Amino acid sequence: MDEQLLIYTTTQKKKVPFSPITPGFVGMYVCGPTVYGHAHLGHARPAITFDLVFRYLQHVGYRVRYVRNITDVGHLVNDADEGEDKIGKKARLDQLEPMEVVQMYTNSYRLNMAKLNVLPPSIEPTATGHIIEQIELVKTILANGYAYESNGSVYFDVQKYATCFDYGKLSGRKIEDLLINTRELDGQDEKRSGLDFALWKKAQPEHIMRWPSPWGEGFPGWHAECTAMGKKYLGEVFDIHGGGMDLMFPHHEAEIAQSCASMGHEAVNYWMHNNMITINGQKMGKSLGNFITLDELFTGSHPLLEKAYSPMAIRFFILQAHYRSTLDFSNEALQAAEKGLERLMNATASIAKITPALHSTVDIDSLRQSCFAAMNDDFNSPIVIANLFDGVRMINQLIEGKAAISQPDLEKLSELYNLFVFEILGLQLEANESADNKVLSGVVDLLLTLRMEAKANKDWALSDKIRNELTAIGFAIKDLKDGFEWEIKK
Ligand code: ZN
Repeated sequence: MDEQLLIYTTTQKKKVPFSPITPGFVGMYVCGPTVYGHAHLGHARPAITFDLVFRYLQHVGYRVRYVRNITDVGHLVNDADEGEDKIGKKARLDQLEPMEVVQMYTNSYRLNMAKLNVLPPSIEPTATGHIIEQIELVKTILANGYAYESNGSVYFDVQKYATCFDYGKLSGRKIEDLLINTRELDGQDEKRSGLDFALWKKAQPEHIMRWPSPWGEGFPGWHAECTAMGKKYLGEVFDIHGGGMDLMFPHHEAEIAQSCASMGHEAVNYWMHNNMITINGQKMGKSLGNFITLDELFTGSHPLLEKAYSPMAIRFFILQAHYRSTLDFSNEALQAAEKGLERLMNATASIAKITPALHSTVDIDSLRQSCFAAMNDDFNSPIVIANLFDGVRMINQLIEGKAAISQPDLEKLSELYNLFVFEILGLQLEANESADNKVLSGVVDLLLTLRMEAKANKDWALSDKIRNELTAIGFAIKDLKDGFEWEIKK
């Protein structure tokens, strides 16, 4: 490593040197999706942010165990521990088994992540697969006196906890303020305080997803799964916990409380939060009509979209902002990202065309240094990209013969772009630029050129044969005044 990696941690609100618990090994937990609908733009940002972290930590030599969960039970429609389970509700509306809903949207999420070139995590555990661990967690918190049972449900006693630990340390919320803003409980409520959150919920008769427990049949509260699975796969204390800023409260605050209440100490050394995506300056939300799924982005099938955007344009767009900055989505911004990406990819490909000279007039080492310095400064991808664009100007000068580069420096330049563009930023050539597609395009162009020649020779039989057979295979062919256009029929 060239220099110390600094990570901004939300609890300390500053960048601190990264020092893992076990030398050479990093345990990282990131809250994954609740799988009751198609993955949307909001899912892309945390996935790409922590993919960048995952890739970079591995590149600098760490073995990383990256755990990203799938929430498939316990996330209720209403944050106040009321209302239907999100997955149960979707299952009811679509007349499916809850696990059909889970499977369908887990498949869809994974497919979308693969398109965005997000590497799969090391472990992708589900909440329903860890009911026993969650029950054990609840039993421990109860035994330690930080929870109470009420009518078959178990609630975390936030006020009791706050007498011993700092509740609100992550989100900066004060318990006094939270109390003022919490609705008054009526006498019928199961909770002692509106601040308390469910560790275990009793299942009502109509509730499909239910498991036996010491408190009767029910299901775990949403926050319990991450605490239980983080401990199971990464140990009592692990290095990095990540997620979107929207999860800071109550989800991550509750996770800290559950760890302290069950183990007497926190589980996480570095809390990392990515900022949100807004759309034309507005928060994304179903009710606002600006809720765009990744499938809609990739096909252009949403009224807010002027066109389809490729997965790599989306990835590049997200990486062009630092993960802690807000990022505003608009057609203009995405089209600018598309152009930038194309410039970067073209320049990367054209390094192969540079002819080396005896001596260099360019400084590859300092370019490399700047790229690593940016990554080591809290994964500053926009600065990395700005450095790579400085390099693009250099590459163009080298091609035009306005600068010179030695053979060893040319090899370094090529390595540097392969490393940062493909491995660390995780960009890849789009399908339509892939080698296979280039070969296909070449063959179809050749056949249609032969057809033009046949027409010029008035060999109508051959001309028709080429057109008819290409059409039968699935090509749409259009004759122009002095040429042709074709595409693969959709
Ligand atoms: Zn979580």
